[in-house]
Amino acid sequence: MKIDPNKDFGNRECPGCAMEVPANQNRCALCGYEFPHASPAKQRLTRWGAIVMIILFILVFLRVRF
Ligand SMILES: [Zn+2]
Repeated sequence: MKIDPNKDFGNRECPGCAMEVPANQNRCALCGYEFPHASPAKQRLTRWGAIVMIILFILVFLRVRF
């Protein structure tokens, strides 16, 4: 099985001009759009933080009611 060295990076579509931008570049060469710097791990952490906040809110709400 041959491994393509470019496969690790891949391409993503620029929201500004729909051009394919290499994933290792944070800025579109054509229109200058800057991609958000958040990594997938960080996004997962943010999602877990939101879930914990909702659970805490429900716990507080139940404690106030009963
Ligand atoms: Zn662009």
